[in-house]
Amino acid sequence: MSILSKAYFHDEAEAFRHVEAVLWPRGAVCPHCKSNARHYRLEGVKTKPSKKHPEGKVRHGLWKCKECRKQFTVRVGTIFEESHLELHKWLQAIYLMVSSKKGVSAHQIHRTLEITYKTAWFLCHRIREAMREGSFDIFGSGGGGVEVDETFIGTEPGAPKKRAYGHKMKVLTLVDRDTKRARSFIIDQVNRDEICPIINSNLSKEAQLLTDTARHYRGIDQHVEVADHGMVNHSKGEYVNFQNPVVHTQTVESYFSVFKRGMRGVYQHCAKKHLHRYMAEFDFRYNNRVGNGVNDFERAMIALSGVKGKRLTYRGPNAQVAG
Ligand SMILES: [Zn+2]
Repeated sequence: MSILSKAYFHDEAEAFRHVEAVLWPRGAVCPHCKSNARHYRLEGVKTKPSKKHPEGKVRHGLWKCKECRKQFTVRVGTIFEESHLELHKWLQAIYLMVSSKKGVSAHQIHRTLEITYKTAWFLCHRIREAMREGSFDIFGSGGGGVEVDETFIGTEPGAPKKRAYGHKMKVLTLVDRDTKRARSFIIDQVNRDEICPIINSNLSKEAQLLTDTARHYRGIDQHVEVADHGMVNHSKGEYVNFQNPVVHTQTVESYFSVFKRGMRGVYQHCAKKHLHRYMAEFDFRYNNRVGNGVNDFERAMIALSGVKGKRLTYRGPNAQVAG
């Protein structure tokens, strides 16, 4: 059976049951009073009649709290709350976004789900928030290698075009070789002042830092607390350090290659105020990839478990309000 034939992608009541099972593993929790007493489902409740639905529309997934007597659904307090889009379409969008390596554009979601482009755009950014990592474990604990490198993408807002990378947006990515996880940061300048605090707060003191020989990494071990620093000299045509083949930055570079193909091919233009969400999306798929033992179905479940507490308040693709 195709995964796309699962009932929760098509049937609204099933979609609610699926999301409830993931977010309420020990039974329904009232978002108003946090009680998880034996609440009861309100079956057959309908909305007020409207032009589109003269009989009223069935309200799926409705519960009544046994303690405070208020009504609620599993959408309250999640990214699903502020949109009226049916839950099964949300689940379709999540699946499309987590299962394609380079991402899916809002235009594609708009066409496939037959929803407006604006709704699709909202949806995609909210799903990126669900993918954002909640906890920050330390990289390189136990003395493992952590590759650190930067890449350049798009154009810095208001920057005059230069020949080098000065006018582009800058992304710093760390990859822990042992856990095979990546973590990306947007930085304003590629220099020690910006890079050192990120290394100090994300790398263990036991870690082996692995970089290329760019100016900002030379002598950086005097400014960060790590056990060791190995450099590979790309300008000499060295891709793996000749003396010590463990020293290379191939892992983080392969992360960047997926990221750049995705950003160029699928997303094309990205405003700096939204870039951190795209980075969260690429980090999420990389950290939960098949090579890390996570299949498409499990990846969708992990994204779904991240929908809580991440409501967004920004307005839309052309709004001036920063996200
Ligand atoms: Zn309650």
